[in-house]
Amino acid sequence: MLTSAMIKEAARKAGADMCGIGPISRMAGAPDEMNPKFLFPEAKSMIGFVFRIPRGVQRGIEEGTQFYQYPSMAYGGINEILAPACLYHVGKVLEDAGYEAFVYRNTGARGCVSDMDGSVGATLSPEEQIEVINNAKDATAHHRSVEFTRATRPGENVPPDLQFQFRLCAVACGLGEIGWSKMLLTPEFGPLQRVAFIFTDAELEYDEMYSGKPLCRRCGACVRECPGHCIPPMNSGHDIVVEIDGKRCVWGDIDMWKCYAFYTHAGRYYNPFVPKEVFDRNENGNLNLLEGKCEASEKEIMKVYGALARYFPSWVGYNMAKCGGCIRACVSMLEKPGGCMHGRFKNPLRTRRQPWKMER
Ligand code: SF4
Ligand code: SF4
Repeated sequence: MLTSAMIKEAARKAGADMCGIGPISRMAGAPDEMNPKFLFPEAKSMIGFVFRIPRGVQRGIEEGTQFYQYPSMAYGGINEILAPACLYHVGKVLEDAGYEAFVYRNTGARGCVSDMDGSVGATLSPEEQIEVINNAKDATAHHRSVEFTRATRPGENVPPDLQFQFRLCAVACGLGEIGWSKMLLTPEFGPLQRVAFIFTDAELEYDEMYSGKPLCRRCGACVRECPGHCIPPMNSGHDIVVEIDGKRCVWGDIDMWKCYAFYTHAGRYYNPFVPKEVFDRNENGNLNLLEGKCEASEKEIMKVYGALARYFPSWVGYNMAKCGGCIRACVSMLEKPGGCMHGRFKNPLRTRRQPWKMER
């Protein structure tokens, strides 16, 4: 007989660092367009897998010495290689026992609402817009959400390809909590992981949702260290509150589109690949958003991406990450006494050296 213990053992052997299992009914409060039950109506259980991000993958950004390991290893490597292989292997265990394994890796689904902000209709990420402009005649746009997708059984299902909220699903599988920075925090790895899922018709023994000491310290380090000021201050009233089967999740209402610009391009002081003169010239006001001279909008972000496209240093399939400030700030705080990562490493992430910031 198939048990949760067998699945977790298979997950561990296949490379997952944590595995949690919850009933899919815990996601009942999600909007239909983001509720995984509409993926597979007979599914009873969701199995969540955590793949740790090695702390050292961000060392280069922390030191200002190496920027492509994080997107290539911690995004590309996990999302495209490690996690799919694990889903495949655990899926075989389920299907060998006569149950179906609806595997769901990160990333790629583009549903009828944007995974960025829930907006309806066709939305493109900035680099996708550039791709479309450059290849207008012979390429299909790779959207964040798609406009013409329609339910195949109106009234019964929702338009494909449904994209659910990974982090909330991980909470529902008992793997952790959401921090103020909107990152998933786990007791073992803090903010350092990516997740993937299997939905199955097997009924299993379920994990409780995390109910220990709050993982987020409400320290505000992520707010202070975001170069774009994308994360609202603690207690500013700009929070999002969601309940998952009675568990209250609260996080800051992050300006996701602004983060899109800063995460990739980092701004004047934290992007060593763009000459200072480019920021000084700020041709046509294209860098107003990075220079703090306007609010974030899709149009302004497009201008940033267009102006800085030629300064992408290494293309690793995923957006170049030059920021990750919120993650490193969080690790650094969670490693201190009282934090869930305390004692995990022999040496702290941060040495006595001052954090780097370019003089410009
Ligand atoms: S990834 Fe960077 S820009 Fe985005 S919220 Fe975190 S610190 Fe801010
Ligand atoms: S840096 Fe502090 S406030 Fe921000 S998510 Fe981490 S623990 Fe929470």
